[in-house]
Amino acid sequence: MTATSEQQRVLQTASERFGTPTYVYFEDVLRERARLITRAFADTFEISYAAKANPNRALLASIHPLVATLDVSSGTELEMGIEAGFAPEAITFSGPGKTRAELEAIARYRGVCSIVESLEEAAELEAIGAAHDTTIPILPRINPTHLPKGFGVGMAGRPSQFGIDEEEIDQALAAILRMPHLRVVGFHVYAGTQCLNAGAIAQNLISTAQLFLRLIRSFDLTPEHLVFGSGFGIPYTANDTPVDLDVVAEQCRGALEELTSDPRCEDARLFLELGRFLVGPAGYFVTQVRRIKETRGRRIAICDGGMNNHLAACGHMGSVVHRNYPMLRLGADHGPAQPYDLFGPLCTTIDHLALAQAFAGLAAGDLVCVGSSGAYGLTASPLYFISHPHPHEVLVRAGSSELIDITDSGAVAHHAARAR
Ligand SMILES: *Cc1c(COP(=O)(O)O)cnc(C)c1O
Repeated sequence: MTATSEQQRVLQTASERFGTPTYVYFEDVLRERARLITRAFADTFEISYAAKANPNRALLASIHPLVATLDVSSGTELEMGIEAGFAPEAITFSGPGKTRAELEAIARYRGVCSIVESLEEAAELEAIGAAHDTTIPILPRINPTHLPKGFGVGMAGRPSQFGIDEEEIDQALAAILRMPHLRVVGFHVYAGTQCLNAGAIAQNLISTAQLFLRLIRSFDLTPEHLVFGSGFGIPYTANDTPVDLDVVAEQCRGALEELTSDPRCEDARLFLELGRFLVGPAGYFVTQVRRIKETRGRRIAICDGGMNNHLAACGHMGSVVHRNYPMLRLGADHGPAQPYDLFGPLCTTIDHLALAQAFAGLAAGDLVCVGSSGAYGLTASPLYFISHPHPHEVLVRAGSSELIDITDSGAVAHHAARAR
């Protein structure tokens, strides 16, 4: 795993001070991740951060200066984004099942842009806009007919709860443009995720640009806000290699130029929408080994956190087979390198953090750090299953390495405060 010795020292200190299990997020890594995008795409794309990857309010406040906009997918994420400092005009709201209360909140905040996922949702929002005597900015979301070969996890080209099918968009758009309390400010496509293939990512951006340009021309629109999705993946195992961003930028340059050189696109801002690429590598999950046992020839380490804290690392989020996340034990080697199976504390067979992971010694009390854990960690896990205490969240300030307990800025605490 790639944690530097300085990061390992900080992870050790954070676990000693706040206890385990705990998530630790490095602000300097967040900044570096944003810089990678800016360096490759400065003249084309701005960044939209998808809050669902990690919605901790303190983390959102650290991300705020690094990105242009925030995409939220619930009323709670909307509130947390506002509290973290995002202006309503810098927030988009996606999600296929927005409630009446959430649509009302979009209207009330004035400036929040709704990503409209169906014609039915457009009609409901139109009525709310009329009732509030306001015009609501929207981005119709389009579900494309195709996703390029080699694109990891996709949602295009098949029946989907997300967006309006590309085959239907012309007709739907004509209807939406007749709704006086909705203002179509652009379009949204988010067709796939966790792709490490630069060519496939570029091809997806190219076909999205072509789709946008076709609609802009045929409806004579002057868009302000075009979201291209992204699908940028991150390495989760030793066999994964990072996306080559320069290749992506180079390959899609021509198609983006064709789009932006249309005079109708003079005021258009283009966005990549990213979650895991920004926050995934910035986060570590630290758990302590409770005890070691040998059973029928295998060495097993039981840890104080598992699937209840980190569902994805246990292989239960979008993966078919269990593949170990990158991980290391803190401290000096204290035994020969041997394989260990790591389990969490839950009374279920599927609570496996790692299978046959090599450690040069592993003993009760040791701290194991799981990397690539900044996205889809705590809030993507069944925290309440078997009622163990919830993990801590700790932010490591860039520059000072100051450790800040941000547990109370999370979604769990937010809901608890509302309920009181
Ligand atoms: C989940 C999601 C994202 C972020 O996905 P990542 O794989 O974390 O980059 C972006 N946009 C939308 C609409 C999403 O649903």
